[in-house]
Amino acid sequence: MIAAAPDFEPAYGSIADPSAADERALVFPFIGQKLLIGPDAALPRQPMPQNLGNPLRALRFGVLAGRDCVLRVWPAGLAIPPDLSAGDYRSLWGQWPPGYLAAFVRARQLVAWVLHNRFCGACGQAMEAGRTEIACECPACGYKAYPRISPVAIGIVLKGDEILLARSPHFAPGMYSALAGFVEAGESAEACLRREVREEAGIDIRNIRYFDSQSWPYPHSLMLGFIADYHGGDLVAQEGEIEDIGWFRPGGLPILPHAGSLARRMIDAVCRTLAKKTRRP
Ligand SMILES: [Zn+2]
Repeated sequence: MIAAAPDFEPAYGSIADPSAADERALVFPFIGQKLLIGPDAALPRQPMPQNLGNPLRALRFGVLAGRDCVLRVWPAGLAIPPDLSAGDYRSLWGQWPPGYLAAFVRARQLVAWVLHNRFCGACGQAMEAGRTEIACECPACGYKAYPRISPVAIGIVLKGDEILLARSPHFAPGMYSALAGFVEAGESAEACLRREVREEAGIDIRNIRYFDSQSWPYPHSLMLGFIADYHGGDLVAQEGEIEDIGWFRPGGLPILPHAGSLARRMIDAVCRTLAKKTRRP
């Protein structure tokens, strides 16, 4: 996402006084992990409502169309001011331009990192914002916590002109998508995909080729997309994880994830390739 939005550049700068207002900056205010937005899904005007008090942390996290982006984080549990509401990545899709969405993806992950590293994991001391690099730093023992990125392998499996798609119980009604899972410690992304497909679908795959990647803010994932070919075995949906699974032809696809998602881009690309093959004499 970040690479696909040329008008947003990630950056970092600590802000010593989190209550200091910056009228020129684009401020992304969060209460806990909820982004506060105004009417029409716009970022709230400055200054923020007085009843929120001083934020826990403020930091500069990027530059969007020449303007500094500033994150201000208040602790979870505070009431959302009456003229504002909580914005969600999926609901902002289609309403915000790509640069704003890329900024949100980074901000949302940094908020989780700030909130989960208020105290040192090694000695328990309160952490401070790194002055020169993006880190939560312990003034007592020197431990540094960097933003966590969790790689996820996501894959489209092909069998002839059919595409493997599955339904997780938490998906929107009727929606199917690619199989995906978190990479385990010590595992390659390709080995992860092989394992996930075997666990969730009961089949083996081969010829795994990289497609593209996408940063995903729930909670701090980096989706690594692959396309692979069916190699053997019968489809068996993993109990509790997969509600339904099946082979679909491009002409008879179920409801798919939204157009900006990596899963959808892979499905669309595979369908285009299959259509070209079908047209060939
Ligand atoms: Zn420490």
